[in-house]
Amino acid sequence: MKIIDIINSDKPALSFEVFPPKTDAAFDSVKKATEDIAQLNPSFMSVTYGASGGTSEFTVSVAQNIKNMGVTPIAHLTCVNSTKDDIHNRLEALKNAGIENILALRGDITDENRNKIKFDYKHANELVYDIKAFGDFCIGGACYPEGHPESSSQAEDIKNLKLKVDAGCCFLTTQMFFDNNILYNYMYKIREAGITVPIIAGIMPVTNANQIKRICTLSGTYLPQRFKAIVDRYASNPDAMCQAGIAYATDQIIDLFANGINAVHVYSMNKENVARKIQQNISEIIK
Ligand code: FAD
Repeated sequence: MKIIDIINSDKPALSFEVFPPKTDAAFDSVKKATEDIAQLNPSFMSVTYGASGGTSEFTVSVAQNIKNMGVTPIAHLTCVNSTKDDIHNRLEALKNAGIENILALRGDITDENRNKIKFDYKHANELVYDIKAFGDFCIGGACYPEGHPESSSQAEDIKNLKLKVDAGCCFLTTQMFFDNNILYNYMYKIREAGITVPIIAGIMPVTNANQIKRICTLSGTYLPQRFKAIVDRYASNPDAMCQAGIAYATDQIIDLFANGINAVHVYSMNKENVARKIQQNISEIIK
């Protein structure tokens, strides 16, 4: 099934994310986590992709396994380290595996991959264009309510986002945010810029304090005082931090659905217990 048909239906959509194993040895544990999450029967599940393409084979097989479990998968695909031929081969593999949905991404440019970058694709809009030309995939893109870190301004980032949508994205999934007002303001700006595709709100349940420190260092995501107080109070008590992080994410999700956002994607990161608790917390809301 195509993601666009799922998120355009009246029923609120709740999806979960998994990341593929980095090594053969880790495959079985990821497979188990994926299957446990699939048994929750979410609206769809996404499978991430290494920026360097290192885990690309696993992305296809994990997505195929999700499909076999009866849940719609979406495979992420990055282009920063790929030639056009590499991408063509990935698209063939996805098509042969029966995967209909792709989240088209540039991938991060890091100190590790900076010197290995291949220049067939400079930005995700070029990848979206090639996927669209290749075949009948439902293509999504990423968007950044607080602006992409490389952009000099939010206005510039939104202008570039419009190029990506015009190339063929039928929906956008947001970067995580911890203050819903940031998303509501952003929605107003992108609609004003003529971007009309559905938005899937990305929510990260922060279940341990180290995770949040890493997130802030990497992306500069704004942390509201209410959230900081939770981390300050419960960082040293892992069970309490996990419970509080799930409650905070649940609160955000309920507010999003109440304010007309019809699709929420949870960055569940292979944690079945987190996915299950969030789903239980809003079971009546997503019925
Ligand atoms: P782009 O859309 O190319 O944007 C990157 C920057 O370039 C922005 O500043 C933008 O304003 C600018 N830009 C875009 N187009 C143009 C243009 N035509 N001309 C000039 N400037 C332009 N990374 C992974 O490695 N694997 C994953 O599975 C993964 N999943 C993700 C899922 C989501 C929902 C999100 C939000 C991010 C994900 N990422 C993933 C991270 C992502 O790869 C990085 O954020 C990356 O830095 C940007 O990717 P993008 O597709 O948004 O790039």
